Amino acid sequence: MEDHSHRCIICNREQSVGIAICNQFICHTCEQEMVKTDVHDERYPFYIKQMRQIWFKKNA
Ligand SMILES: [Zn+2]
Repeated sequence: MEDHSHRCIICNREQSVGIAICNQFICHTCEQEMVKTDVHDERYPFYIKQMRQIWFKKNA
């Protein structure tokens, strides 16, 4: 089956296009959002928090 989707850790939706980091998936949309999100944007801390979960799981 080519239609292989993963649950994005940022938006929590099933997506098939995106990147996987340490077995955690981030969809293409969220990846693009993160890239263009400014440090002063109110969503930035949320992204950092979600990303920290990845590193935390990796080191667990
Ligand atoms: Zn997403």
